[in-house]
Amino acid sequence: MSVCEILSVGTEILLGDILNTNSRYLSLELAKLGISVLRHTTVGDNAERLAAALKTALERSDIVIATGGLGPTQDDITRDVCCQVMGCETELDSEIAEKIKAYFDSKNIEMPESNLRQAYVPKGQTVFENNNGTAPGIGIKKNGKCVVILPGPPYEMAPMYQESVVPFLSEYSEGSIVSHTVRTMGIGESSMAEICADLLEKENPTVAPYAKKGEALLRVTAKAENTDEAEKLCEPVIDEIKSRLGGYVYGIDSESIEERVVQLLKEKKLTVATAESCTAGYISKRITDFPGTSNVFGCGAVTYSNEIKQKLLGVKAETLEAYGAVSEQTAREMAAGIRRVSGADIGIAVTGIAGPGSDGTSKPVGLSYVALDAEGVQICEKVETGRNDREYNRYVTGSRALNLARKYLEDK
Ligand code: ATP
Repeated sequence: MSVCEILSVGTEILLGDILNTNSRYLSLELAKLGISVLRHTTVGDNAERLAAALKTALERSDIVIATGGLGPTQDDITRDVCCQVMGCETELDSEIAEKIKAYFDSKNIEMPESNLRQAYVPKGQTVFENNNGTAPGIGIKKNGKCVVILPGPPYEMAPMYQESVVPFLSEYSEGSIVSHTVRTMGIGESSMAEICADLLEKENPTVAPYAKKGEALLRVTAKAENTDEAEKLCEPVIDEIKSRLGGYVYGIDSESIEERVVQLLKEKKLTVATAESCTAGYISKRITDFPGTSNVFGCGAVTYSNEIKQKLLGVKAETLEAYGAVSEQTAREMAAGIRRVSGADIGIAVTGIAGPGSDGTSKPVGLSYVALDAEGVQICEKVETGRNDREYNRYVTGSRALNLARKYLEDK
């Protein structure tokens, strides 16, 4: 199987100014061709370091895909350095030069002379048309190695990849890679990894844990001659993970927790209502992001102040006095209150401290309580994210509240 490395060029990436989404995109896409990506490397706009990184990558891999640094300015060095390392002479491609001029004309902008640098391409190699910008991409195949050079902007890179690079790499594509993600909620990444420790040692399929926005995920990836064979390799491992992690698993692949909850509510023909303090409507938004939720979601109340918690939801003054707004008792009374007021089958409630400041008590930022109230069932969970990140805390708290509904509905 052919192996590939991705070389991202740009000081902006090293500084953290931009997120390297190109590498992710290319890894996912190359897997579909059955090409293994062995490494992601990032270098700044520095010719020496880029040349060294490319030479090293070529010693290890059949294919190197470089993105970024193809523009017209002096610090856009990728094309020149790659051609040099591959021993390719460059020449002006008059057709490309005309296209670049026409591109500027169409936008009624005078073309800076430096833009013609982009029309220099390696002799006898492949040029990929750029339909969304001026810099063409380049494909070099020489001495048994392959170097692909793509522009940095994702909206230029991705279409060029699909249109030109996929056919260019077809000779390297053998077999198929299939990848599935097991999504869990309510268990930490390290506990999940411990339970699945022996599975993480496997080679085909591989099982890799990672965390994302308060969720622990396991990616199961199999390589085989064709997709069916690869699926067959994944299947028993996914089943094993599901049986070990039980109720923590809420979905495979793209299903989000809110999507799962909406699906279950529809299936069971039940309704939910929300009472939100620190998430201020975020949960109801996530539920109603799906069309056709009016049959399952009737009401969402944002109850920020203590006064409205009492007036609307019937939270007792003594509860707030004794335990505070961010407490298990308040969360439970909020959930019961919204269920009573709305007439929904399930009430879910959230109260917490999203940050950045605390609530004037000794309670930490990132602490919240999520509660569910339904016929004969009252549950409350404490959530501690340990992070001072308002957006993250709101998202994770919302997810955990939705997860209470998911577990209740699955058991019902
Ligand atoms: P341009 O002609 O626009 O200069 P370029 O090929 O020279 O294109 P860069 O100058 O390296 O590309 O990057 C241009 C922009 O593309 C960056 O500011 C960034 O927004 C985006 N970009 C570059 N590399 C990446 C990457 N690896 N992941 C995501 N975005 C990227």
